[in-house]
Amino acid sequence: MDPIIDLDFIDNRTPEQATAAASCDTKVTAETNTGKTRKLYIESYGCQMNFSDSEIVSSIMFEQGFDTTAQIEQADVVFLNTCSIREKAETTVRNRLGQINYFKKKKPEMVIGILGCMAERLKKSLLEEEKIVDLVVGPDAYRDLPNLINEVDGGQKAVNVLLSREETYADINPIRLNSNGVSAFISIMRGCDNMCSFCVVPFTRGRERSRDAHSIVREAEALVAQGYKEVTLLGQNVDSYKWASEDGTEQVNFAQLLEMVAQLSPNLRVRFSTSHPKDITDEVLYTMKKYDNICKYIHLPAQSGNSRVLELMNRTYDRAWYLNRVDAIRAILGEDCGISSDMIAGFCSETEEEHQDTLSLMDYVQYDYSYMFFYSERPGTLAARKLEDDVPLEVKKRRLAEIIEKQRECSLNRNKRDVGRVHRVLVEGFSKKSDDQLSGRNDQNKVVIFDKKHYKKGDYVNVFVNDCSVGTLFGEAVD
Ligand code: SAM
Ligand code: SF4
Repeated sequence: MDPIIDLDFIDNRTPEQATAAASCDTKVTAETNTGKTRKLYIESYGCQMNFSDSEIVSSIMFEQGFDTTAQIEQADVVFLNTCSIREKAETTVRNRLGQINYFKKKKPEMVIGILGCMAERLKKSLLEEEKIVDLVVGPDAYRDLPNLINEVDGGQKAVNVLLSREETYADINPIRLNSNGVSAFISIMRGCDNMCSFCVVPFTRGRERSRDAHSIVREAEALVAQGYKEVTLLGQNVDSYKWASEDGTEQVNFAQLLEMVAQLSPNLRVRFSTSHPKDITDEVLYTMKKYDNICKYIHLPAQSGNSRVLELMNRTYDRAWYLNRVDAIRAILGEDCGISSDMIAGFCSETEEEHQDTLSLMDYVQYDYSYMFFYSERPGTLAARKLEDDVPLEVKKRRLAEIIEKQRECSLNRNKRDVGRVHRVLVEGFSKKSDDQLSGRNDQNKVVIFDKKHYKKGDYVNVFVNDCSVGTLFGEAVD
Protein backbone atom coordinates (compact mmCIF):
# COMPACT_ATOMS: atom_id res chain seq x y z
CA MET A 1 0.00 0.00 0.00
CA ASP A 2 1.08 3.56 -0.55
CA PRO A 3 2.06 5.83 2.32
CA ILE A 4 -0.73 7.64 4.15
CA ILE A 5 0.06 11.05 2.68
CA ASP A 6 0.26 10.92 -1.06
CA LEU A 7 1.74 14.34 -1.85
CA ASP A 8 4.02 15.08 -4.76
CA PHE A 9 7.72 15.50 -4.22
CA ILE A 10 10.66 16.74 -6.21
CA ASP A 11 13.21 14.00 -6.64
CA ASN A 12 16.70 15.51 -6.78
CA ARG A 13 18.58 12.54 -5.34
CA THR A 14 21.56 10.95 -7.07
CA PRO A 15 20.89 7.55 -8.71
CA GLU A 16 22.78 5.84 -5.84
CA GLN A 17 20.78 7.68 -3.17
CA ALA A 18 17.55 6.89 -4.97
CA THR A 19 18.50 3.21 -5.19
CA ALA A 20 19.25 3.15 -1.47
CA ALA A 21 15.94 4.87 -0.68
CA ALA A 22 14.03 2.58 -3.02
CA SER A 23 14.58 -0.27 -0.60
CA CYS A 24 12.43 1.63 1.93
CA ASP A 25 9.73 3.20 -0.32
CA THR A 26 9.35 0.17 -2.51
CA LYS A 27 10.50 -3.42 -2.33
CA VAL A 28 13.73 -4.57 -3.84
CA THR A 29 14.72 -8.19 -4.39
CA ALA A 30 16.87 -9.81 -1.74
CA GLU A 31 20.02 -11.81 -2.57
CA THR A 32 19.58 -15.47 -3.55
CA ASN A 33 23.05 -16.82 -4.16
CA THR A 34 22.51 -20.32 -5.48
CA GLY A 35 25.29 -20.13 -8.09
CA LYS A 36 23.18 -19.18 -11.12
CA THR A 37 25.04 -17.44 -13.91
CA ARG A 38 22.91 -14.28 -14.28
CA LYS A 39 21.47 -11.82 -11.78
CA LEU A 40 17.99 -10.31 -11.64
CA TYR A 41 17.09 -7.13 -9.74
CA ILE A 42 13.38 -6.28 -9.25
CA GLU A 43 12.02 -3.08 -7.77
CA SER A 44 8.32 -3.42 -6.96
CA TYR A 45 5.89 -0.53 -6.56
CA GLY A 46 2.33 -0.26 -5.34
CA CYS A 47 0.18 -2.85 -3.65
CA GLN A 48 0.90 -6.16 -2.01
CA MET A 49 -0.39 -7.98 -5.08
CA ASN A 50 2.49 -6.50 -7.05
CA PHE A 51 5.00 -7.62 -4.41
CA SER A 52 3.50 -11.10 -4.65
CA ASP A 53 3.77 -11.03 -8.44
CA SER A 54 7.48 -10.21 -8.14
CA GLU A 55 7.85 -13.47 -6.17
CA ILE A 56 6.22 -15.34 -9.07
CA VAL A 57 8.49 -13.55 -11.58
CA SER A 58 11.57 -14.44 -9.51
CA SER A 59 10.52 -18.08 -9.54
CA ILE A 60 10.06 -18.11 -13.34
CA MET A 61 13.40 -16.34 -13.82
CA PHE A 62 15.16 -18.69 -11.38
CA GLU A 63 14.21 -21.58 -13.67
CA GLN A 64 15.86 -19.61 -16.49
CA GLY A 65 19.16 -19.36 -14.64
CA PHE A 66 18.77 -16.13 -12.67
CA ASP A 67 19.61 -15.52 -9.01
CA THR A 68 18.18 -12.34 -7.49
CA THR A 69 20.30 -9.45 -6.26
CA ALA A 70 19.69 -6.40 -4.10
CA GLN A 71 22.43 -4.44 -5.92
CA ILE A 72 21.22 -2.89 -9.14
CA GLU A 73 24.77 -2.41 -10.45
CA GLN A 74 25.35 -6.18 -10.25
CA ALA A 75 22.22 -7.02 -12.24
CA ASP A 76 22.11 -8.41 -15.76
CA VAL A 77 18.35 -7.82 -15.87
CA VAL A 78 16.50 -5.01 -14.06
CA PHE A 79 12.70 -5.15 -13.73
CA LEU A 80 10.47 -2.39 -12.42
CA ASN A 81 7.17 -3.95 -11.36
CA THR A 82 4.97 -0.91 -11.70
CA CYS A 83 1.73 0.54 -10.39
CA SER A 84 -0.79 2.77 -12.21
CA ILE A 85 -3.26 3.37 -9.42
CA ARG A 86 -2.50 7.09 -9.04
CA GLU A 87 -0.66 9.49 -11.30
CA LYS A 88 2.13 9.87 -8.78
CA ALA A 89 2.92 6.14 -8.89
CA GLU A 90 3.52 6.42 -12.63
CA THR A 91 5.58 9.60 -12.32
CA THR A 92 7.80 7.91 -9.73
CA VAL A 93 8.57 5.08 -12.17
CA ARG A 94 9.28 7.49 -15.03
CA ASN A 95 11.74 9.37 -12.77
CA ARG A 96 13.28 6.10 -11.72
CA LEU A 97 13.89 5.10 -15.35
CA GLY A 98 15.89 8.30 -15.74
CA GLN A 99 18.08 7.25 -12.82
CA ILE A 100 18.44 3.69 -14.09
CA ASN A 101 19.77 5.12 -17.36
CA TYR A 102 22.88 6.04 -15.36
CA PHE A 103 23.51 2.35 -14.55
CA LYS A 104 22.71 1.25 -18.10
CA LYS A 105 25.27 3.72 -19.48
CA LYS A 106 27.91 2.12 -17.27
CA LYS A 107 26.76 -1.38 -18.27
CA PRO A 108 25.10 -1.21 -21.74
CA GLU A 109 24.28 -4.94 -21.85
CA MET A 110 21.95 -4.53 -18.84
CA VAL A 111 18.37 -5.48 -19.85
CA ILE A 112 15.65 -3.12 -18.55
CA GLY A 113 12.06 -4.37 -18.29
CA ILE A 114 8.79 -2.78 -17.23
CA LEU A 115 6.33 -5.20 -15.63
CA GLY A 116 2.87 -4.82 -14.10
CA CYS A 117 0.10 -2.29 -14.48
CA MET A 118 2.02 0.44 -16.36
CA ALA A 119 3.15 -2.14 -18.90
CA GLU A 120 -0.41 -2.87 -19.86
CA ARG A 121 -1.45 0.79 -19.84
CA LEU A 122 1.54 2.38 -21.57
CA LYS A 123 3.17 -0.36 -23.63
CA LYS A 124 3.66 1.67 -26.83
CA SER A 125 4.67 4.96 -25.32
CA LEU A 126 7.05 3.23 -22.89
CA LEU A 127 9.00 1.63 -25.72
CA GLU A 128 8.93 4.77 -27.87
CA GLU A 129 9.63 7.38 -25.18
CA GLU A 130 11.83 5.49 -22.77
CA LYS A 131 14.61 4.38 -25.07
CA ILE A 132 16.33 2.36 -22.37
CA VAL A 133 13.35 -0.01 -21.97
CA ASP A 134 13.99 -3.37 -23.70
CA LEU A 135 11.04 -5.33 -22.43
CA VAL A 136 7.39 -4.59 -21.50
CA VAL A 137 5.42 -7.39 -19.83
CA GLY A 138 1.87 -7.22 -18.47
CA PRO A 139 0.69 -8.97 -15.27
CA ASP A 140 -0.76 -12.01 -17.06
CA ALA A 141 2.24 -12.67 -19.34
CA TYR A 142 5.00 -13.60 -16.88
CA ARG A 143 5.16 -17.21 -18.12
CA ASP A 144 6.33 -15.77 -21.43
CA LEU A 145 9.35 -14.09 -19.79
CA PRO A 146 11.86 -16.78 -20.87
CA ASN A 147 10.90 -16.27 -24.56
CA LEU A 148 10.88 -12.52 -24.21
CA ILE A 149 14.31 -12.48 -22.56
CA ASN A 150 15.60 -14.63 -25.45
CA GLU A 151 14.22 -12.09 -27.93
CA VAL A 152 16.00 -9.29 -26.10
CA ASP A 153 19.20 -11.36 -25.94
CA GLY A 154 18.84 -11.65 -29.73
CA GLY A 155 18.87 -7.85 -30.01
CA GLN A 156 15.14 -7.11 -30.30
CA LYS A 157 12.70 -5.25 -28.07
CA ALA A 158 10.03 -7.56 -26.62
CA VAL A 159 6.42 -6.94 -25.55
CA ASN A 160 3.62 -9.10 -24.18
CA VAL A 161 0.77 -7.35 -22.41
CA LEU A 162 -2.01 -9.80 -23.23
CA LEU A 163 -4.51 -10.18 -20.43
CA SER A 164 -5.90 -13.62 -19.74
CA ARG A 165 -9.20 -14.97 -18.44
CA GLU A 166 -7.52 -18.05 -16.97
CA GLU A 167 -4.00 -17.29 -15.77
CA THR A 168 -3.63 -17.60 -11.97
CA TYR A 169 -0.01 -18.91 -11.80
CA ALA A 170 -1.50 -21.61 -9.55
CA ASP A 171 1.33 -24.09 -10.14
CA ILE A 172 4.19 -21.63 -9.66
CA ASN A 173 5.94 -21.79 -6.34
CA PRO A 174 6.84 -18.17 -5.51
CA ILE A 175 10.37 -17.36 -4.31
CA ARG A 176 9.80 -15.39 -1.10
CA LEU A 177 11.49 -12.01 -1.39
CA ASN A 178 12.03 -9.55 1.47
CA SER A 179 10.39 -12.10 3.72
CA ASN A 180 10.86 -11.99 7.48
CA GLY A 181 10.44 -15.78 7.43
CA VAL A 182 7.36 -15.40 9.64
CA SER A 183 4.59 -14.01 7.44
CA ALA A 184 3.90 -14.56 3.74
CA PHE A 185 1.30 -13.47 1.20
CA ILE A 186 -0.68 -15.82 -1.02
CA SER A 187 -2.56 -14.54 -4.08
CA ILE A 188 -5.91 -16.32 -4.23
CA MET A 189 -7.31 -14.50 -7.23
CA ARG A 190 -6.35 -12.04 -9.94
CA GLY A 191 -8.01 -9.10 -11.68
CA CYS A 192 -11.26 -7.43 -10.75
CA ASP A 193 -14.79 -7.42 -12.21
CA ASN A 194 -15.98 -4.37 -10.31
CA MET A 195 -15.98 -1.15 -12.23
CA CYS A 196 -15.35 1.46 -9.55
CA SER A 197 -15.37 4.60 -11.66
CA PHE A 198 -12.05 5.96 -10.28
CA CYS A 199 -10.08 2.75 -10.65
CA VAL A 200 -7.69 1.56 -13.32
CA VAL A 201 -7.26 -2.00 -11.96
CA PRO A 202 -9.94 -3.72 -14.11
CA PHE A 203 -8.17 -2.30 -17.20
CA THR A 204 -4.61 -3.09 -16.16
CA ARG A 205 -5.12 -6.46 -14.47
CA GLY A 206 -8.08 -7.82 -16.39
CA ARG A 207 -11.05 -9.97 -15.44
CA GLU A 208 -11.44 -11.59 -12.04
CA ARG A 209 -10.21 -15.22 -11.78
CA SER A 210 -10.10 -17.40 -8.68
CA ARG A 211 -7.21 -19.76 -8.18
CA ASP A 212 -7.60 -23.50 -7.57
CA ALA A 213 -8.42 -23.84 -3.85
CA HIS A 214 -6.21 -26.91 -3.46
CA SER A 215 -3.17 -25.11 -4.88
CA ILE A 216 -3.73 -22.35 -2.31
CA VAL A 217 -3.93 -24.86 0.53
CA ARG A 218 -0.77 -26.62 -0.76
CA GLU A 219 1.09 -23.29 -0.84
CA ALA A 220 0.01 -22.52 2.74
CA GLU A 221 0.99 -26.05 3.83
CA ALA A 222 4.46 -25.62 2.31
CA LEU A 223 4.85 -22.33 4.16
CA VAL A 224 3.92 -23.99 7.45
CA ALA A 225 6.50 -26.71 6.77
CA GLN A 226 9.12 -23.99 6.21
CA GLY A 227 8.28 -22.46 9.60
CA TYR A 228 6.04 -19.58 8.52
CA LYS A 229 3.49 -18.58 11.17
CA GLU A 230 1.18 -16.27 9.25
CA VAL A 231 -0.36 -16.13 5.78
CA THR A 232 -2.38 -13.33 4.22
CA LEU A 233 -4.78 -14.34 1.44
CA LEU A 234 -4.78 -11.62 -1.21
CA GLY A 235 -7.29 -10.46 -3.79
CA GLN A 236 -8.88 -7.18 -4.92
CA ASN A 237 -12.21 -8.46 -3.63
CA VAL A 238 -11.65 -11.67 -1.66
CA ASP A 239 -15.35 -12.05 -0.88
CA SER A 240 -16.11 -12.82 -4.49
CA TYR A 241 -13.58 -15.70 -4.51
CA LYS A 242 -15.30 -18.67 -6.16
CA TRP A 243 -13.59 -21.75 -7.48
CA ALA A 244 -15.12 -24.90 -8.97
CA SER A 245 -13.38 -28.09 -9.96
CA GLU A 246 -13.40 -28.88 -13.68
CA ASP A 247 -16.07 -31.56 -13.34
CA GLY A 248 -18.15 -29.15 -11.25
CA THR A 249 -18.43 -31.54 -8.30
CA GLU A 250 -16.55 -29.27 -5.92
CA GLN A 251 -17.24 -25.59 -5.28
CA VAL A 252 -15.40 -23.40 -2.82
CA ASN A 253 -16.40 -19.88 -1.75
CA PHE A 254 -14.25 -17.50 0.31
CA ALA A 255 -15.62 -18.54 3.72
CA GLN A 256 -14.88 -22.18 2.86
CA LEU A 257 -11.39 -21.38 1.59
CA LEU A 258 -10.68 -19.45 4.79
CA GLU A 259 -11.75 -22.48 6.81
CA MET A 260 -9.59 -24.86 4.72
CA VAL A 261 -6.51 -22.72 5.36
CA ALA A 262 -7.32 -22.12 9.05
CA GLN A 263 -7.60 -25.88 9.62
CA LEU A 264 -4.00 -26.49 8.49
CA SER A 265 -2.55 -25.63 11.89
CA PRO A 266 -3.81 -23.79 14.98
CA ASN A 267 -0.39 -22.09 15.09
CA LEU A 268 -0.81 -20.56 11.65
CA ARG A 269 -2.39 -17.12 11.73
CA VAL A 270 -4.64 -16.42 8.76
CA ARG A 271 -5.32 -12.91 7.46
CA PHE A 272 -6.94 -11.68 4.26
CA SER A 273 -7.33 -8.52 2.20
CA THR A 274 -9.28 -6.79 0.65
CA SER A 275 -12.93 -7.20 1.68
CA HIS A 276 -15.52 -5.42 -0.44
CA PRO A 277 -18.45 -3.93 1.50
CA LYS A 278 -20.96 -5.10 -1.11
CA ASP A 279 -19.81 -8.73 -0.93
CA ILE A 280 -18.64 -9.49 2.62
CA THR A 281 -21.03 -12.11 4.02
CA ASP A 282 -22.08 -13.08 7.52
CA GLU A 283 -20.78 -16.56 6.61
CA VAL A 284 -17.26 -15.08 6.43
CA LEU A 285 -17.77 -13.30 9.76
CA TYR A 286 -18.98 -16.50 11.46
CA THR A 287 -16.03 -18.45 10.01
CA MET A 288 -13.71 -15.82 11.49
CA LYS A 289 -15.45 -16.20 14.85
CA LYS A 290 -15.20 -20.02 14.74
CA TYR A 291 -11.39 -20.12 14.38
CA ASP A 292 -9.07 -18.48 16.93
CA ASN A 293 -6.29 -18.44 14.33
CA ILE A 294 -8.24 -16.31 11.84
CA CYS A 295 -7.22 -12.79 12.81
CA LYS A 296 -10.00 -10.51 13.91
CA TYR A 297 -9.19 -7.72 11.54
CA ILE A 298 -10.98 -6.61 8.37
CA HIS A 299 -9.80 -4.15 5.73
CA LEU A 300 -13.15 -2.80 4.48
CA PRO A 301 -12.51 0.23 2.25
CA ALA A 302 -15.39 2.72 2.35
CA GLN A 303 -13.84 5.29 -0.09
CA SER A 304 -16.49 7.87 0.94
CA GLY A 305 -19.16 8.31 3.61
CA ASN A 306 -21.68 9.92 1.27
CA SER A 307 -24.23 7.92 -0.71
CA ARG A 308 -24.31 10.23 -3.76
CA VAL A 309 -20.51 10.12 -4.05
CA LEU A 310 -20.51 6.34 -3.58
CA GLU A 311 -22.98 6.08 -6.44
CA LEU A 312 -20.77 8.23 -8.67
CA MET A 313 -17.87 6.02 -7.67
CA ASN A 314 -19.98 3.03 -8.76
CA ARG A 315 -19.19 1.25 -5.50
CA THR A 316 -22.68 -0.37 -5.61
CA TYR A 317 -23.41 0.22 -1.91
CA ASP A 318 -24.54 3.28 -0.01
CA ARG A 319 -23.72 4.69 3.42
CA ALA A 320 -26.54 2.75 5.12
CA TRP A 321 -25.39 -0.56 3.58
CA TYR A 322 -21.80 0.09 4.66
CA LEU A 323 -22.86 0.90 8.22
CA ASN A 324 -25.00 -2.23 8.30
CA ARG A 325 -21.89 -4.31 7.44
CA VAL A 326 -19.92 -2.56 10.20
CA ASP A 327 -22.76 -3.26 12.65
CA ALA A 328 -22.71 -6.94 11.57
CA ILE A 329 -18.94 -7.10 12.24
CA ARG A 330 -19.42 -5.59 15.69
CA ALA A 331 -22.42 -7.87 16.47
CA ILE A 332 -20.69 -11.10 15.36
CA LEU A 333 -17.02 -10.42 16.19
CA GLY A 334 -17.33 -7.78 18.91
CA GLU A 335 -15.87 -4.33 19.55
CA ASP A 336 -12.29 -5.63 19.52
CA CYS A 337 -12.32 -6.62 15.85
CA GLY A 338 -9.97 -4.28 13.98
CA ILE A 339 -11.43 -2.44 10.99
CA SER A 340 -9.47 -0.34 8.49
CA SER A 341 -10.40 1.57 5.37
CA ASP A 342 -9.26 3.30 2.20
CA MET A 343 -10.60 6.83 1.69
CA ILE A 344 -10.52 9.11 -1.33
CA ALA A 345 -10.75 12.88 -0.74
CA GLY A 346 -12.13 15.25 -3.38
CA PHE A 347 -13.74 12.85 -5.83
CA CYS A 348 -15.52 14.52 -8.79
CA SER A 349 -18.17 17.05 -7.66
CA GLU A 350 -17.81 16.17 -3.95
CA THR A 351 -19.23 19.05 -1.88
CA GLU A 352 -18.11 20.24 1.55
CA GLU A 353 -21.17 18.59 3.18
CA GLU A 354 -20.44 15.32 1.40
CA HIS A 355 -16.85 15.47 2.65
CA GLN A 356 -18.26 15.99 6.17
CA ASP A 357 -20.19 12.72 5.68
CA THR A 358 -16.85 10.93 5.25
CA LEU A 359 -15.62 12.42 8.54
CA SER A 360 -18.84 11.45 10.34
CA LEU A 361 -18.62 7.90 8.94
CA MET A 362 -15.10 7.69 10.39
CA ASP A 363 -16.43 8.92 13.76
CA TYR A 364 -19.05 6.17 13.71
CA VAL A 365 -16.83 3.29 12.62
CA GLN A 366 -13.72 4.29 14.63
CA TYR A 367 -11.25 2.74 12.18
CA ASP A 368 -8.05 1.38 13.65
CA TYR A 369 -6.26 2.85 10.64
CA SER A 370 -6.81 3.91 7.05
CA TYR A 371 -5.00 4.41 3.78
CA MET A 372 -5.96 7.87 2.60
CA PHE A 373 -5.54 9.50 -0.81
CA PHE A 374 -6.78 12.46 -2.76
CA TYR A 375 -8.51 11.68 -6.04
CA SER A 376 -6.21 11.33 -9.00
CA GLU A 377 -7.93 11.01 -12.38
CA ARG A 378 -6.77 7.97 -14.34
CA PRO A 379 -7.08 7.92 -18.13
CA GLY A 380 -9.58 5.41 -19.50
CA THR A 381 -11.55 4.97 -16.29
CA LEU A 382 -15.32 5.56 -16.14
CA ALA A 383 -14.79 8.74 -14.10
CA ALA A 384 -12.26 10.13 -16.58
CA ARG A 385 -14.70 9.54 -19.42
CA LYS A 386 -17.91 10.69 -17.78
CA LEU A 387 -17.19 12.98 -14.80
CA GLU A 388 -15.37 16.25 -14.37
CA ASP A 389 -12.36 16.26 -12.03
CA ASP A 390 -13.56 19.59 -10.66
CA VAL A 391 -12.42 19.73 -7.03
CA PRO A 392 -9.38 22.03 -6.95
CA LEU A 393 -6.11 20.42 -5.84
CA GLU A 394 -5.79 22.66 -2.73
CA VAL A 395 -9.31 21.65 -1.68
CA LYS A 396 -8.50 17.95 -2.22
CA LYS A 397 -5.35 18.32 -0.13
CA ARG A 398 -7.15 20.20 2.66
CA ARG A 399 -9.92 17.58 2.80
CA LEU A 400 -7.30 14.84 2.81
CA ALA A 401 -5.52 16.57 5.71
CA GLU A 402 -8.85 16.64 7.62
CA ILE A 403 -9.42 12.95 6.94
CA ILE A 404 -5.89 12.15 8.12
CA GLU A 405 -6.43 14.20 11.29
CA LYS A 406 -9.72 12.39 11.95
CA GLN A 407 -7.97 9.04 11.45
CA ARG A 408 -5.23 9.98 13.92
CA GLU A 409 -7.96 10.74 16.47
CA CYS A 410 -9.71 7.39 15.82
CA SER A 411 -6.42 5.41 15.86
CA LEU A 412 -5.49 6.93 19.20
CA ASN A 413 -8.95 6.19 20.66
CA ARG A 414 -8.74 2.61 19.46
CA ASN A 415 -5.17 2.13 20.71
CA LYS A 416 -6.08 3.53 24.15
CA ARG A 417 -8.70 0.75 24.45
CA ASP A 418 -5.85 -1.73 24.04
CA VAL A 419 -3.84 -0.34 26.96
CA GLY A 420 -4.14 -2.36 30.20
CA ARG A 421 -4.82 -5.62 28.35
CA VAL A 422 -2.77 -8.65 27.35
CA HIS A 423 -2.31 -9.21 23.58
CA ARG A 424 -0.99 -12.27 21.78
CA VAL A 425 1.82 -10.98 19.60
CA LEU A 426 3.59 -12.77 16.75
CA VAL A 427 7.19 -11.51 16.74
CA GLU A 428 8.42 -10.32 13.31
CA GLY A 429 11.88 -9.06 14.29
CA PHE A 430 13.72 -6.35 16.16
CA SER A 431 12.10 -2.97 16.69
CA LYS A 432 13.35 -0.26 14.31
CA LYS A 433 14.88 1.69 17.18
CA SER A 434 16.67 -0.94 19.26
CA ASP A 435 17.93 -4.53 19.10
CA ASP A 436 16.94 -4.86 22.77
CA GLN A 437 13.30 -4.64 21.76
CA LEU A 438 11.14 -6.81 19.55
CA SER A 439 8.38 -5.81 17.19
CA GLY A 440 5.38 -7.92 16.29
CA ARG A 441 1.68 -7.68 15.57
CA ASN A 442 -1.40 -8.50 17.56
CA ASP A 443 -4.54 -10.12 16.16
CA GLN A 444 -5.81 -6.72 14.94
CA ASN A 445 -2.62 -6.20 12.91
CA LYS A 446 -1.30 -3.47 15.25
CA VAL A 447 2.43 -3.13 15.82
CA VAL A 448 3.44 -3.98 19.40
CA ILE A 449 6.91 -3.20 20.79
CA PHE A 450 8.31 -4.83 23.94
CA ASP A 451 11.62 -5.74 25.64
CA LYS A 452 13.27 -8.73 24.03
CA LYS A 453 14.13 -10.85 27.10
CA HIS A 454 14.56 -14.43 25.79
CA TYR A 455 12.03 -14.12 22.96
CA LYS A 456 12.83 -14.27 19.26
CA LYS A 457 11.39 -13.85 15.78
CA GLY A 458 8.52 -16.26 15.09
CA ASP A 459 7.50 -16.65 18.76
CA TYR A 460 3.97 -16.00 19.95
CA VAL A 461 4.31 -13.85 23.09
CA ASN A 462 1.64 -12.60 25.50
CA VAL A 463 2.33 -8.89 25.94
CA PHE A 464 0.71 -6.65 28.57
CA VAL A 465 0.23 -3.30 26.79
CA ASN A 466 0.94 -0.33 29.06
CA ASP A 467 1.23 2.58 26.63
CA CYS A 468 0.42 3.59 23.06
CA SER A 469 0.94 6.19 20.37
CA VAL A 470 -1.19 6.81 17.27
CA GLY A 471 0.57 4.02 15.39
CA THR A 472 2.05 1.66 17.99
CA LEU A 473 1.34 -0.25 21.21
CA PHE A 474 4.07 -0.64 23.84
CA GLY A 475 4.22 -3.30 26.55
CA GLU A 476 5.95 -6.01 28.58
CA ALA A 477 6.04 -9.74 27.90
CA VAL A 478 4.11 -11.58 30.61
CA ASP A 479 4.62 -15.28 29.84
N1 SAM B 1 -9.83 -3.56 -4.35
C1 SAM B 1 -9.71 -2.64 -3.29
C2 SAM B 1 -11.08 -2.09 -2.89
O1 SAM B 1 -11.99 -2.10 -3.69
O2 SAM B 1 -11.20 -1.60 -1.81
C3 SAM B 1 -8.86 -1.47 -3.63
C4 SAM B 1 -7.62 -1.66 -4.35
S1 SAM B 1 -6.83 -0.19 -4.93
C5 SAM B 1 -5.41 -0.96 -5.52
C6 SAM B 1 -6.30 0.58 -3.42
C7 SAM B 1 -6.92 1.91 -3.13
O3 SAM B 1 -6.38 2.91 -3.96
C8 SAM B 1 -8.41 2.06 -3.35
O4 SAM B 1 -9.15 1.47 -2.32
C9 SAM B 1 -8.61 3.54 -3.41
O5 SAM B 1 -8.81 4.11 -2.14
C10 SAM B 1 -7.27 4.01 -3.96
N2 SAM B 1 -7.44 4.48 -5.35
C11 SAM B 1 -7.73 3.75 -6.43
N3 SAM B 1 -7.85 4.53 -7.53
C12 SAM B 1 -7.61 5.80 -7.11
C13 SAM B 1 -7.60 7.07 -7.76
N4 SAM B 1 -7.87 7.18 -9.05
N5 SAM B 1 -7.31 8.16 -7.01
C14 SAM B 1 -7.04 8.04 -5.69
N6 SAM B 1 -7.05 6.88 -5.03
C15 SAM B 1 -7.35 5.77 -5.72
FE1 SF4 C 1 -10.54 -1.09 -8.18
FE2 SF4 C 1 -13.02 -1.25 -7.26
FE3 SF4 C 1 -11.79 -3.44 -8.19
FE4 SF4 C 1 -11.02 -2.34 -5.87
S1 SF4 C 1 -13.02 -3.26 -6.30
S2 SF4 C 1 -9.69 -3.04 -7.54
S3 SF4 C 1 -11.29 -0.19 -6.26
S4 SF4 C 1 -12.39 -1.65 -9.38
